[in-house]
Formats: sequence, C-alpha cells, structure tokens
Amino acid sequence: MSSPPAPAGAVARLREQVSDLHQELVRYNLVVWTAGNVSARVPDADLFVIKPSGVDYDRLTPANMIVCDLQGRVVEGGGLSPSSDTAAHAYVYRHMPEVGGVVHTHSTYACAWAARGEAVPCVLTAMADEFGAEIPVGPFALIGDDSIGRGIVETLEGHRSPAVLMRNHGVFTVGRDARAAVKAAVMCEDVARTVHISRQLGDPLPIAGSDIDRLYERYQNVYGQPAPATERPATDRGATA
Ligand SMILES: [Zn+2]
Repeated sequence: MSSPPAPAGAVARLREQVSDLHQELVRYNLVVWTAGNVSARVPDADLFVIKPSGVDYDRLTPANMIVCDLQGRVVEGGGLSPSSDTAAHAYVYRHMPEVGGVVHTHSTYACAWAARGEAVPCVLTAMADEFGAEIPVGPFALIGDDSIGRGIVETLEGHRSPAVLMRNHGVFTVGRDARAAVKAAVMCEDVARTVHISRQLGDPLPIAGSDIDRLYERYQNVYGQPAPATERPATDRGATA
C-alpha cells in the first residue's frame, strides 16, 4: 500500500508548530538531553509530523521534523530517523481518531509516580478542571512493538484524563491538537509535583466525585474567553484565572 501524498500547506504549518512546541517542553523543564517528543496529526491525511530521533532540542527546526504515515513509516524524513517513540504515536492516531496531538515526556514528578505504578489522585481543583479524574497508570511495556501504544489507548479510552503514566516509564498525553497535548503534559507534571508535596504533609483530602464532575464540566465548557471566529479548543483554555 503506497502512502498518500502529503498536503503541503498543512504539513508546512505543522512542521513549524511541532518544532516550536518542543521548545515548550524545554521551557517547562519536562525533558533532558534529547528525551521527549511531540507529534501532530495532519488533518484529512493519514499522516503525522514528529521530531527526529536523537537531535538536540536547540537544533530542532521545521525543516528537520519528520512526516510519517499512520503505520509509523517515514514519508518525508530528510535522511533522519523519526523519534524512537514513533510507533506509539502512530498506534494512538490509528486507534483514537479524535486525537490530533500526542506528547511524551519523562518529566520528574510524574515519572516518580509512574515508577511506583501509582495513579495521581484528583485532590486539586486544577486537576479536576484539566483531567476530570485521577491521572491513571498504564501497563509496563517495552519499546519495539505496539505494546506502549496499546497500553496508552487501553488506559485512556473511556477515561477523561488526557494523560497516562506508563508504569516505570513516563507520561503520554493526548489532545485535540498538539498544543493541547503539550498543555496536558505541563499540567500533569505540575499536579504530580503538588500532590507529591501534599503527601509529605499528610494525606491529601479527597474531592467528592460530584464536585469533580462540576469542575470539569465548567472548565471544559464555560471557562475562558468566548471562542473567536477561529474555533478555540476547549482543552486549550488558560490554566489560570
Ligand atoms: Zn520514554
């Protein structure tokens, strides 16, 4: 089966966006060395844009982003190999059609929870807003086949959280676009840190499920500025009042 031709305008725009969003991972201290990656689905095409493998963050540019098909095969690579996590991103795009962006990090506090195989409990209103639930734990899975992708999809399907802690590994987040997935990765690390600190003080107090529902509903549907002419995704609204 041959790959479909890449729509040039959309690909150029997403090369720039995905390249820029990698700098957000650096800005929020979510990555070290060349770990971590962002990808974006190309609308109306069975393609996505992802970072190359093993290239320093300060050398990432729109031109060296890689275009892959949904089997993870390189369509436009410029001689570079795609991220070693490409198969996991591809699996998510194949099985979650509503997802337009995927992010992976080994951010410190979230990874500490992942190493314990423990979900981050929903004990902060900001967590209820963004995640609508605990941040769940996915299975232990080795890189090299579809195990990681399958673990992500099986954990997130039917769950409100856009983030999963893959056990003994790290964070994968999804969003309707790549920016929303990056926001979820930033918020995941933030709440993992705060809830960890809270536990040093004692047992965090739970929030009633009905209140989590109300907070999530309001934040996802009411919070922020009215959508301008260019539709603004609910999951991309501001993180602060
Ligand atoms: Zn990883």
